[in-house]
Amino acid sequence: MNLAVFSAKPYDREFLSKANAALASTEGGQQHTITFHDFALSEETVSLAHGADAVCGFVNDVLSEPVLRALRDGGVRAVLLRCAGYNNIDLAAAESLGLFVANVPSYSPEAVAEFALALIQTLNRKTHRAYNRVREGNFNLDGLMGRTLHGKTVGVVGTGKIGIAFARIARGFGCRLLAYDPFPGEAFRQFGDYVSLEELLAQSDFVSLHCPLTEGTTHIINVRTLGLMKEGAMLVNTSRGGLVHTESVIAALKSRHLGGLALDVYEAEGGLFYHDHSAEIIQDDELMRLMTFPNVLVCGHQAFFTEEALTEISECTIRNLGDFSNRIPCKNSLVKYGPVAAGPELIRQELVR
Ligand code: NAD
Repeated sequence: MNLAVFSAKPYDREFLSKANAALASTEGGQQHTITFHDFALSEETVSLAHGADAVCGFVNDVLSEPVLRALRDGGVRAVLLRCAGYNNIDLAAAESLGLFVANVPSYSPEAVAEFALALIQTLNRKTHRAYNRVREGNFNLDGLMGRTLHGKTVGVVGTGKIGIAFARIARGFGCRLLAYDPFPGEAFRQFGDYVSLEELLAQSDFVSLHCPLTEGTTHIINVRTLGLMKEGAMLVNTSRGGLVHTESVIAALKSRHLGGLALDVYEAEGGLFYHDHSAEIIQDDELMRLMTFPNVLVCGHQAFFTEEALTEISECTIRNLGDFSNRIPCKNSLVKYGPVAAGPELIRQELVR
């Protein structure tokens, strides 16, 4: 199959090419022909997918109805997301256009969970500030005091794969764990108790978000819920930027009600993250305001970024494409895709007819 990969970075080229070659030799599949585009998929760039059987997108590629329609009209039959979240694709539109869509639902949840813990400890123990200070020969400890994590209450919002991996690590630090999830699972109960979101916010010293971005979770952290948080508590978001209402967290930081904020994801990260803007005037005033706080840490959506996770993401993406191409029902399919049984060749024939 011809696969067009958008938003491709050098590491995407390396890991996807490696997976394409490795799976063809170990699993007897065919090597796909991959074209890499370093720009994002959008209405402006969708024509570049012309001639491809499948496209592969990442978290900030635009997969709206007009883009999906243009892809379908240009001959694309499959959309592969090389990420877990799928908030950037209009799944209903994809399904009605007859497109196959698959994601990578699980890849090293520990990679993201470990990063969330790293952010908590950086923010809490202020190692980001100590690093800069020491490099200038300043070994003064004023302003660097943190809090011992042992015995603190940590609130986990969303106890799926990453939330559970996070809970396991936090438990190792000796934290008391609370969780909120509208679909509570057995796995978390060995680490702590399920409570309402309100109770979690009221009791937690650290709150870590691990739920997906949906209509129901958009701005789950807002003026009201921030007001429920314990005075001086810290918030960590490694999930999706849209979970947090940025203006409200800025206000909560200014009033000192919120004791710290660590973001790996940001509401308006599209077009900004994954690119070097260091020589430009960044126009996003809210992001720039956030970065002026000494108790705010912002990273560019890198929680997933480990060798192990990239290997798993690439292999799963190529396997998803293999399932589509070989007419095998795909366990990672996100839409009802009837024609899979018939296979892409037949669909093409039908279209020609
Ligand atoms: P998952 O599907 O295994 O778990 C999500 C959990 O959230 C489920 O248990 C679900 O019931 C729960 N949930 C749904 N609505 C909720 C709500 N209103 N409140 C609380 N919980 C709710 O997903 P996962 O693999 O654990 O990933 C979680 C999220 O992490 C993904 O949706 C993705 O957005 C994000 N993610 C970020 C990175 C990164 O690099 N920063 C990498 C991978 C995933």
